[in-house]
Amino acid sequence: MELQEKISLLRLVYKDLADEKLAEIAELSRVCHYPANHLLCREGAHEDILYIIADGHVSVFQEILDASQEHTLRLGGRGDVIGEMALIQDAPRSASVRTTSPCTTLEMNRKDFEIILTKNPQIAIDLIGVTLDRMRENDRRVIAELQKTNQILRQMDRNKTEFIQITAHELRTPLTVIKGYLDLLQSMLPTIANEEVDCILEGINTGTKRLYETVNMMLDITRIDSGNLKVAFLPVPVKQVLQKTLYSLNSAAAERNIKLSLIYHPNTPNLKADPVLIEKALHHLLINAIKYTPDGGKITLEAKPSTLANGTASVRFSVKDSGIGLDAEHHNLIFEKFYQVSGVANHSSGKTSFKGGGSGLGLAIVRGIAKAHGGKTWVESAGHNEENFSGSIFYLEIPAS
Ligand code: ADP
Repeated sequence: MELQEKISLLRLVYKDLADEKLAEIAELSRVCHYPANHLLCREGAHEDILYIIADGHVSVFQEILDASQEHTLRLGGRGDVIGEMALIQDAPRSASVRTTSPCTTLEMNRKDFEIILTKNPQIAIDLIGVTLDRMRENDRRVIAELQKTNQILRQMDRNKTEFIQITAHELRTPLTVIKGYLDLLQSMLPTIANEEVDCILEGINTGTKRLYETVNMMLDITRIDSGNLKVAFLPVPVKQVLQKTLYSLNSAAAERNIKLSLIYHPNTPNLKADPVLIEKALHHLLINAIKYTPDGGKITLEAKPSTLANGTASVRFSVKDSGIGLDAEHHNLIFEKFYQVSGVANHSSGKTSFKGGGSGLGLAIVRGIAKAHGGKTWVESAGHNEENFSGSIFYLEIPAS
């Protein structure tokens, strides 16, 4: 490539630089040729070469989902600059670049750039100015793309919520019919009773109840997502609510030889909140504690007085277990709907069996209930540990009034 050719290519990139400055840069740059499908830059790598495409085409992409898929950020051709950060700092590549046709490039490495800087600081200042403008333009493009993606994701989330809502309503009607017939059949039992029929009916009853619970959880999450969760602010007898919730899970805990205990601090303030929702949130926390604690473990439900960050008096509920614990990276994510640490492999197991898995909605509902009351929920855990079972503490804090 002739010097003049290099200069006219550089002029496409650095429009505001004078010809003699472009000539100095051109002299320090070299021409290279690459076949199609050649990886020019690798995301995350520390490389200090700047490429200007003279001929041919490239694709700029990022790897997603453990490098199993590629997301194309843009396609580039003559006059495109790749790896500008390399001139200014030793930063890792933010994307990968591959040639999509045979390519000719003009290349400059950081050392050569530093030579320009020593010889002629004005060129370097101009070059940095132009490079920063181009990077700002790149940022604008990436931000616009992120905003678009965000919009699509929000719409998809709304679609998901609508789908859950429709499915839950569609399931509830036939479920009510089944439950009605089941009650009728059970009321006729004394006349047709025998042990086998009893057992079958009990099985249908348990299954129907479980389905009801799942459908109700689906409806709860759609109400939370659409801001339609109704909160009835009533005086809540905290101690009774704790006792009732614990009592309802006594037999599930006993089956797994898990000890349930209650600590109620007598100076806990009275709550003005929705007793049904508070009970529901505690129920989900306790069910989880049972599910993620091995047989023979210990769970403590506690309520004590506290104060929220804004100075409001509150009741701090906690559920402490001697279970498998949770690594810090999951502490916030588990409160998102459908987020599960170990995937859906265990979905068919019982509701309170060890590591049984569930719908992935429980903690999202707890968070929704906390927020609807102006409170908060969070977890503390030293990490996942299935040798010492150091466990977790889940908190739910609700303003007193
Ligand atoms: P799930 O139906 O899967 O239990 P949740 O929303 O209730 O859904 O919980 C989300 C995830 O948080 C669970 O899949 C589990 O990995 C983790 N988790 C919840 N409670 C505990 C706990 N007490 N100990 C350890 N992990 C927990």
